[in-house]
Amino acid sequence: MQKLSLTMLLATFALSFSPAIMAQDAPGYTDGPFLPNSKWRVHDQTRPQPKKVTPGTGDLGVTAPDDAIVLFDGGNLDAWQRTDGQPIGDGIADGAFDIVKTGQLRTKEEFGSCQLHLEWVTPLGPEDRMNWGNSGVFPMGLFEIQVIESCDSFIYADGNAGAIYGQFPPLVNPARKPGEWQSFDIFFTAPTFDGDKMVSPAYVTIIYNGVIVQNHQEILGTVSHRALPGPYPVQTRGPVMLQDHHSGVKFRNIWIRPIE
Ligand code: MG
Repeated sequence: MQKLSLTMLLATFALSFSPAIMAQDAPGYTDGPFLPNSKWRVHDQTRPQPKKVTPGTGDLGVTAPDDAIVLFDGGNLDAWQRTDGQPIGDGIADGAFDIVKTGQLRTKEEFGSCQLHLEWVTPLGPEDRMNWGNSGVFPMGLFEIQVIESCDSFIYADGNAGAIYGQFPPLVNPARKPGEWQSFDIFFTAPTFDGDKMVSPAYVTIIYNGVIVQNHQEILGTVSHRALPGPYPVQTRGPVMLQDHHSGVKFRNIWIRPIE
């Protein structure tokens, strides 16, 4: 196994959705490879959509505890850099930033196991339904926790918000409407290695708008589109990355607590 270039990974992934994706009656594909130990194919058109749950009301944002590393509190993006090396665009307004205006970001610092809080909002739209509100949160820059407009979801099950993209749909769908702030609380366990041999894979638990959508879920590999998850690079830390997928998703109140 070799260390993947984050830039290469992202360049591959940026190819993303093709127009041919839309089937007559449901989104997804029928010709993808089967996921390991699963009856479902990657982006399987027949995989059941997560049951819709109406989340509780109110502001789900919790400000950072005093031992957290604040990644964004509305002031500046000093903790971040662009993945393409260009200067960060001027995208901050009203305590949030627009990922299209800033450009795709990664933290300067690298993290392994962690607790990560962030809030996000999809544009009012309407936009192309396969890309409306598409962004993503990438622990270690390798695994995508999907951000997308899912209130009126019309993407394959493993592409909904709160999915481990291309692997596991959220257990349920507690999406709020476009224009309403939503929250992720992510509990990420980094993989471990003995030399080049993986001892344990990555796991993730995700609370989305106060509802558990991934429960200590093993992550099968690095993010892929219309392909099996990629092999784990021998790596136990990496940056948190926020995807620019050409939809003006905004983020606010981002903080992280490394778990050692
Ligand atoms: Mg995405």
